[in-house]
Amino acid sequence: MFFHSSYNSMRDLCNGLKDKGYIQSDRVYKALINVDRVDFAPMGPYEDRPQPINYNVTISAPHMHAYCLELLKDHLKPNGKALDVGFGSGYLTVAMSKMMEDKGTVVGIEHIEQLNNFAKENISKHHKNLLDENKIILQCGDGRKGYEKFKPYNCIHVGAASEERPQTLIDQLDLGGRLVVPVGKPNEGQYIYIFDKDQNGKVTERKELSVRYVPLTDVDIQLSGNY
Ligand code: SAH
Repeated sequence: MFFHSSYNSMRDLCNGLKDKGYIQSDRVYKALINVDRVDFAPMGPYEDRPQPINYNVTISAPHMHAYCLELLKDHLKPNGKALDVGFGSGYLTVAMSKMMEDKGTVVGIEHIEQLNNFAKENISKHHKNLLDENKIILQCGDGRKGYEKFKPYNCIHVGAASEERPQTLIDQLDLGGRLVVPVGKPNEGQYIYIFDKDQNGKVTERKELSVRYVPLTDVDIQLSGNY
């Protein structure tokens, strides 16, 4: 069973994640320590657990943010383009931008309008320049369709579980791109999947960690809470 650890600061939290092996690289350590969770998680920002952000969803636990950034790190480089589906609090969207050293574009798509505003407010506290300079572009809509306008993406992160193989998102990956996404039905097992598209467009997939995410779903189903 996973033991929830509580820390007092971003530094403590990141050091803890490093000790536990979730943070493995200096780049991920630097990106996370530069994005203070206190701006995004209303309660217990430095606890290593998900926190409610209303609308029946949570900001993911810090160890999951670290884990996903480690999987995406080679695809988050300066001048790159990434997509964050179901950005919720906006935390990982900023961390992805930090991985690109503020020099790339991260497009975020989230279907709850109020969470778009919440994320904008959160990001504006210490990273407003990223919004002003279009390094982060937030959109309201159904993330299952990805975001055609800015495709192809060097990488795509999905913060909610897809019930099926997310073909539309795979199609929006650039050659050499990577998609990291939880896949599985709510009451069955969900796993993080990695889809890699090679230089010839051939896609390979790998099943990773067993996880529990909220589903990638319709707005009314999410707001009813009947997943
Ligand atoms: N990475 C975010 C995760 C938030 S939880 C964070 O750590 O803050 C998952 C998010 O996916 C929620 O904000 C939820 O509203 C959103 N979501 C669920 N279904 C969606 C859909 N079809 N399109 C876009 N966003 C969706």
